Amino acid sequence: MREAVGAPNVLGGLDLEGYLDPYAFGEGAPFRPSAAVIPASVEEIQRVLTAARQHQLPLWTVSRGRNYGYGGAAPRVSGSVVLDLHRMNRILEVDQELGYVLVEPGVSFLDMHAHLRANKHRLVLSVPDIGWGSLIGNALERGFGYAAHGEHIAFSCGLEVVLADGSVVRTGMGAVPGGTAWHLYRGGCGPALEGLFQQSSLGIVTKMGFWLMPQPENVVVCMVKAPRRDDLGALVDAIRPLLMDGTVQTKAVIGNATIVASMMGERAAWFAGDGPMPASAVRSMMADLEVGWWNARFALYGPTSLTTARLDVVRAAVAAVPDLVLDVRSYPGDVNPEMVHPADRAQLGIPSTDLVRMAAWQGGEPAHTDISLVCPATAADTMRQLDLIQSTVETAGFDYAGGFTLDARAAIALALLSFDRKDERQRERVRDAVGNVIVAAAAAGYAPYRSHLAFMDRIADTYGFNEHALRSVQVTLKDALDPEGLLSPGKQGIWPTSSAPAVSTRQ
Ligand code: ADP
Repeated sequence: MREAVGAPNVLGGLDLEGYLDPYAFGEGAPFRPSAAVIPASVEEIQRVLTAARQHQLPLWTVSRGRNYGYGGAAPRVSGSVVLDLHRMNRILEVDQELGYVLVEPGVSFLDMHAHLRANKHRLVLSVPDIGWGSLIGNALERGFGYAAHGEHIAFSCGLEVVLADGSVVRTGMGAVPGGTAWHLYRGGCGPALEGLFQQSSLGIVTKMGFWLMPQPENVVVCMVKAPRRDDLGALVDAIRPLLMDGTVQTKAVIGNATIVASMMGERAAWFAGDGPMPASAVRSMMADLEVGWWNARFALYGPTSLTTARLDVVRAAVAAVPDLVLDVRSYPGDVNPEMVHPADRAQLGIPSTDLVRMAAWQGGEPAHTDISLVCPATAADTMRQLDLIQSTVETAGFDYAGGFTLDARAAIALALLSFDRKDERQRERVRDAVGNVIVAAAAAGYAPYRSHLAFMDRIADTYGFNEHALRSVQVTLKDALDPEGLLSPGKQGIWPTSSAPAVSTRQ
């Protein structure tokens, strides 16, 4: 490995601290790498693969490894070598005319935004809650953001991937030698491969194109507040049609008062006791922060004539539902980020790391994991999800801090479980709560969209249609492309047949 990437770029022993699960809730740290290698190029990755094959060492690929709530840079199989791509951080293209960028895996949302501003590009990035992760890692995990191109994987176009055998594949029009439309046109010749590399152990993605939105003249950020827990259905029914017909151009992110409060302070300001925060404390928190029980945020973009017309439609939809209140803030598209209200940054495509503080809600040494279940974007389903998640979380003794990311047809129900990582009792309760939600959700026809290392197998087990026909095809592909199981064994519960006995360490 040292020959492959240079001695300083191979880490072991105490230097591996940054590659452990930062918010582990298991006993000790079950997901422990033996080393980390940090290549700077595709050629170095190929040399690392040769060494890995020679010594039968599994690699675990990360881009920036900041996926903290789901295991960080830690590998599913202890002893794996983390393949850390953060040094491959070139922004290879920014095309203002056609609105796309081409990046390597180490490029973070913070880097991309700084580059666009420094070079006065009039293009808007969509950014997730915390900007330190990579565009590529986030999109591959099907992460999302809150500006117009919020479904990040849907706005990607054209991949370069290194396979386990060291071959380099470019997808779509990238397969044309000297091709001119790699990051412009999604099709190509024959079956599309891009999806195979999402939440996947089939390849190492080394380049990816993304479409960005041209900077609009005007951005209007809307916030709809609802006063009661049971207003959720009416709120969802009011917003969904606006998402379906394109009036609203972002996802609508709906958070309860507790999750909004966790972005600003610690629970001890309102309640210091054990167990879930009582309703009276929630009410005083709502009054202090001037927030609703539910708070939905979304944005409108375009020339002022268009945003004004869109806002009229939003106003009418909100006014039709009793007790909903709409607050609006309007910005010029080229607003200086310093002038933007912190709560509106994501809608303007401005990354930040402020929300790291949400992990500190419970006090102690901050840590968190998330529950994230997919459901239909209807009043009935979101209420059902709320009942399921809130009761599980509160039974485990935690506050329900959560909400929904609403799209036109589906919603992701999210709950933040923040805990004190030094408190073994809390860690145990988090583990039980997440495990119980997965089981209860599966029984009701729901499943998470993403998972922590500790639950990958259990979640894969919930996808059991037709005797696990889906997993069977996934394993067939894994066996064909990576028969020795060199790449990320166990990722999303996919264990290549050949390496299954060797990984009997399944935790
Ligand atoms: P981030 O860059 O947002 O911190 P991570 O680097 O933690 O994200 O990546 C999250 C997950 O996405 C990884 O555990 C891995 O499974 C997958 N992943 C990230 N980057 C790549 C890549 N370049 N190629 C293949 N899979 C990747």
